[in-house]
Amino acid sequence: MKVVNLLDLGQEGLEIFFKDLDEPAFRARQVFKWIHQQGVDDFSLMTNVSKTLRQKLSKIAEIKVPEIALEQPSTDGVRKWLLRLNDQQCIETVFIPEGDRGTLCISSQVGCALDCTFCATARQGFNRNLSVGEIIGQVFVARQRLEQALRSASREKERIISNVVLMGMGEPLLNLDNVVDAIRIMLDDNGYGLSKRRVTLSTSGVVPALDRLGDMVDVSLAVSLHAPNNILRNQLVPLNRKYPIEELMAACKRFLARKAQRDRITFEYVMLEGVNDSPAHAHQLVKTLQGVSSKVNLIPFNAFKGTQYKRSSQRVIDRFRDILYAKGVNTITRKTRGDDIDAACGQLAGKIQDKSRRDQHFMRIEQGVL
Ligand code: SAH
Repeated sequence: MKVVNLLDLGQEGLEIFFKDLDEPAFRARQVFKWIHQQGVDDFSLMTNVSKTLRQKLSKIAEIKVPEIALEQPSTDGVRKWLLRLNDQQCIETVFIPEGDRGTLCISSQVGCALDCTFCATARQGFNRNLSVGEIIGQVFVARQRLEQALRSASREKERIISNVVLMGMGEPLLNLDNVVDAIRIMLDDNGYGLSKRRVTLSTSGVVPALDRLGDMVDVSLAVSLHAPNNILRNQLVPLNRKYPIEELMAACKRFLARKAQRDRITFEYVMLEGVNDSPAHAHQLVKTLQGVSSKVNLIPFNAFKGTQYKRSSQRVIDRFRDILYAKGVNTITRKTRGDDIDAACGQLAGKIQDKSRRDQHFMRIEQGVL
């Protein structure tokens, strides 16, 4: 019999699992809490579960988390982990502390299929989607490691991970079902108890999946726009050829219209010297965003080996911001963090064993299968 990794199951999945064992439904909640609220990955520690059941569970199930292959602390408090998965593929997860906030940046795929020209992950190619357990496992492992670190510094009362952003390796909307299951565990009061304002999914704009996301879960959204017109965006984000800006913005409007509360979408815009950073681009961006409740995150480009792009100067970034600001667009410039350990936006690469699957995957996107 195949051993089931309980990390792959959400609350509902666990209910089915225990039902099949003729156990009452509340067992699912108990075990779910042990795993995700308490961070326990050993059945023998689940003291409100009978000994017989615990023994049975240890034979038929496991709580298998990704293994830390490497932990790298940055000089600015950022930590990056290289996590090794069952099949030896590796992904990266980054923790970014700032004041009383702690943001965990997690990956959704091994590599990425989208091939954005300014992103290091794209260079790595694509291998596969992450399972639910591999996505939520990143939160599990990071919390465990951070708790250990705080305990040794006698600061265990602090809430460590207050925010989660799906801005690591991969395109989350191309792994929608697993990503949504993992988000539900993050938002669950019996799980990580994060508020929906503090869990952000970032996408390059897979329009049909964005509509499905809106139907499935209420979460904050960031859209990687990077260009105010289709000609430029086609070059920077090749996915734009399939889902051009007008369609993307229409999907953003539909996404917001479904929300119970007033909300805004964050538009990410990487600042590339001489490419997308002129005053004309800024004015065009204001027009593009019209009618969508938005804020803009300007991201100074982070260089990586082999790239031709350069980061816009601070003066140019400020000029761009001031134009947006003057037109009433709420704009902030993202601070560059962790770049000394290649942990900044767009620098995550992991270690991918078979890069050949990108073409296959991208073909499926082009054909509209995904
Ligand atoms: N595929 C998703 C999730 C990745 S998020 C998406 O595209 O949104 C990573 C964010 O960092 C995206 O906004 C991405 O465009 C941006 N980014 C990628 N490479 C970068 C680089 N070299 N410098 C700065 N930002 C970069």
